Amino acid sequence: MAKQSVALLGLGTMGAGMAANLLKAGFPLAVYNRSRAKAEVFAAQGARVAKSPADAARGASVMVSMLADDLASRGVWLGEDGALAGAAKGAVLVECGTVSPAWIAELGEAAQSRGVEMLDAPVTGSRVQAAGGQLTFLVGGSEAALGAARPVLEAMGKEIAHLGPLGSGAKMKLLNNFICGVQVAALAEGIAWLERSGLDREQAIDLLKRGAPGSPLLGAISARMTSRDYAVNFHLKLMSKDLLYAGEAAAANGVELTTAANARSLFERAVASGLGDEDMAAVIEPLR
Ligand code: NAP
Repeated sequence: MAKQSVALLGLGTMGAGMAANLLKAGFPLAVYNRSRAKAEVFAAQGARVAKSPADAARGASVMVSMLADDLASRGVWLGEDGALAGAAKGAVLVECGTVSPAWIAELGEAAQSRGVEMLDAPVTGSRVQAAGGQLTFLVGGSEAALGAARPVLEAMGKEIAHLGPLGSGAKMKLLNNFICGVQVAALAEGIAWLERSGLDREQAIDLLKRGAPGSPLLGAISARMTSRDYAVNFHLKLMSKDLLYAGEAAAANGVELTTAANARSLFERAVASGLGDEDMAAVIEPLR
């Protein structure tokens, strides 16, 4: 059976790995990125480099976006030459970025009014998992839309978790990143304290990793904080965004995320120090 035509919008840290896996799996692929140079890299591998989001969407049965935030997603889907304007009736829109449930609801209405199906399918896993086709998709939307998009998601991931109606994926992702962001902020303060405490840093971190606080996140991020290797897996400014969206989404359910607000103030302090485009582990630097 012929593979579905796919459009991929956004070729940053995550989108680049996802595009490579779609090409490897043999999907006809159109790519669009605001900074065109990141899209041109994929021409040599057989992708069509689109002039605009609308141009990318033309002829695609599945359109995937992997953009920074609500603003970027709004611009690419609904802005001038936006992807929805080029979308075919019956095509499926899959928003994979970490965006707010409020924006997902608004985009869902815009998609519906154009006869386009929609899923929210944000991911867990980072740069390495995107490159290796090992992402987990947290999906909200109808069974029918997921059925149509499933082969495309399978080419990029190892697990597809269907959580409920449209918006469920966004909520699950923000819950996940709220807890990750608070852990990373606590780790930054903990290591800053440890480094001035007179304790042996390596011994103490080894005990933390093997003890109750130990988690995959603590292992990975403590190594980056101590080596001061901030090669980007996850842009620091994106975690600040995720904590903001998580706080708003929880407030809509009547829950105040006080720890998210505190953690976010550390990420914002790092952004103000010019560290927003470094890896999120750099959140420790202003505390040193
Ligand atoms: P990234 O490397 O910062 O890339 C961001 C992408 O969004 C780029 O394609 C960028 O285009 C585009 N963009 C930003 N602002 C834009 C605007 N105003 N208009 C049009 N395009 C715009 O981000 P990423 O790490 O790939 O993450 C993408 C999404 O997945 C984010 O929502 C992030 O929170 C989420 N996520 C990331 C990770 C991770 O570990 N990195 C893991 C899970 C989820 P340019 O190239 O032109 O700047």
